[in-house]
Amino acid sequence: MKRLNKYLLLGLGLGAMLPGFTGCTARKGEEKKAPNLLYVFPDQYRKHAMAFWDTPEFEGAIRTKADPVKTPQLDQFAREAVVFTNMVSNNPLCSPHRGSLLTGMFPGKSGVPLNCNAARPISSLRTDAVCFSDVLHAQGYEQAYFGKWHLDFPTPNDPANPGNYVDPRRPAWDTYTPQERRHGFDYWYSYGTWDVHKDPHYYDNDGNRYDPKEWSPQHEADEVISYLKNSKGQRNSDKPFAIFVSMNPPHNPYNSLNDCLETDYNAYSDMAPEDLLHRDNANPHMDKAQSAPFYFANVTGVDREFGRIVQQLKEMGEYENTIVVFTSDHGETMCSQGIKDPKNSIYTEAFDVPFLIRWPGMVKARLENLLMGSPDIMPTLLGLMGLEKNIPEEVQGFNYADVLQSEESANRPTSALYIRNVNGDKDDQGNVTSYFPIARGIKTHQYTLELVINRKSELVRTQFFNDNEDPYQQTNLPVDKNDPVIKQLLHEMAYWLKHSDDPWMEQKILADWINYEEE
Ligand code: CA
Repeated sequence: MKRLNKYLLLGLGLGAMLPGFTGCTARKGEEKKAPNLLYVFPDQYRKHAMAFWDTPEFEGAIRTKADPVKTPQLDQFAREAVVFTNMVSNNPLCSPHRGSLLTGMFPGKSGVPLNCNAARPISSLRTDAVCFSDVLHAQGYEQAYFGKWHLDFPTPNDPANPGNYVDPRRPAWDTYTPQERRHGFDYWYSYGTWDVHKDPHYYDNDGNRYDPKEWSPQHEADEVISYLKNSKGQRNSDKPFAIFVSMNPPHNPYNSLNDCLETDYNAYSDMAPEDLLHRDNANPHMDKAQSAPFYFANVTGVDREFGRIVQQLKEMGEYENTIVVFTSDHGETMCSQGIKDPKNSIYTEAFDVPFLIRWPGMVKARLENLLMGSPDIMPTLLGLMGLEKNIPEEVQGFNYADVLQSEESANRPTSALYIRNVNGDKDDQGNVTSYFPIARGIKTHQYTLELVINRKSELVRTQFFNDNEDPYQQTNLPVDKNDPVIKQLLHEMAYWLKHSDDPWMEQKILADWINYEEE
């Protein structure tokens, strides 16, 4: 804490330390530069797919086995990082998570309650929200976005073919993001959503399209390294940088060597399905089980590309002054619970995500069981960067920078909210005009509870697990609303639904279960 306080004292009015002001500040002959940020978040990368969990150093950190993966870069990184054991993606789906990451708000307020596509005009990142990247831009950061964005309602705005969509699929999923929707990102090498891993494409600042015919994480790492080296004059190297890298793998498809590199596949090709899918709740006889070696091959490839970017930071002497985060937008069930849907469920494989953060000297490497969620990322990182005064008023997430800096901090939530929305009403063209909040749930350090409703807002299904005794969530316990444990969980849920202005609170859904009036 001592070093932190010194930094915060220096950091008061951090803007004065940033380029555009004086570039850096000197105090007693010592220069303290504003930290850079490198935020890497592959898609659908589950918490359990990191090998270090099963090493003696991390024994018992999570309740279940790690996947039988090879992640040497993350294993090394984890020893130098704060490693979260209970980070969740509150609404474990692409666009809703990304909306929360950028705005610090829950999906009902970020503008992104559903996955964005051309049939869902109601789901698109608010242009008027002051995003994470808007704040960093105003504070003098040079910012870049690489990879998948998936935050905009696709419109017919193909720069090469004006008035047309860039995406041949219907409804269109991919989109080109014009400058006015980039929220302060100076350098753009991105796309909306596109799932052909060895034939990706990207749009640059000016809307030029690139089709590199390479496995996308490898290509993106090359582009990030080039940006860091500033080999094409991509950035103002006098400014601190903030780089977001959203790799699509290990997102599906994961069916063949068209989806990953052969060298990574070879690490798993000889393993039997039951050895790859060795979680107690996994069914290695599902058709999807044939995807497991390809999924894990993508994990290993992403690990290597993350390591290459980190290596570049080291070589240019910026590693120690860069906050490096590795996380994902949501997990992947991969044959657990016998379901095909990889995401959008409360099960630990989908709901939990990796979250590792390294900033030597400022945060000490250790395990952290904080129940942090998607909207907390922005305020927490801004807090850590000394920019807590710049956290926009509308942000609903919490700043847990003090927890990162001190294990003893009491600023800890006792639960995290789970959200699942589906399409609501549609107009006669089939466009979605509202969303329906079909399920809400709560996770504490011991329990997981989900309540699912029908279109009349009646309770139709519950899921309730004692995660301490049943870490693979195989026994759905009966739910009695008068049981003290359930009462407490519903009390937690009421808090979050009110805090986030959730439709369940607004419509008083299941008011006979959830007391919306209590303090
Ligand atoms: Ca995703």
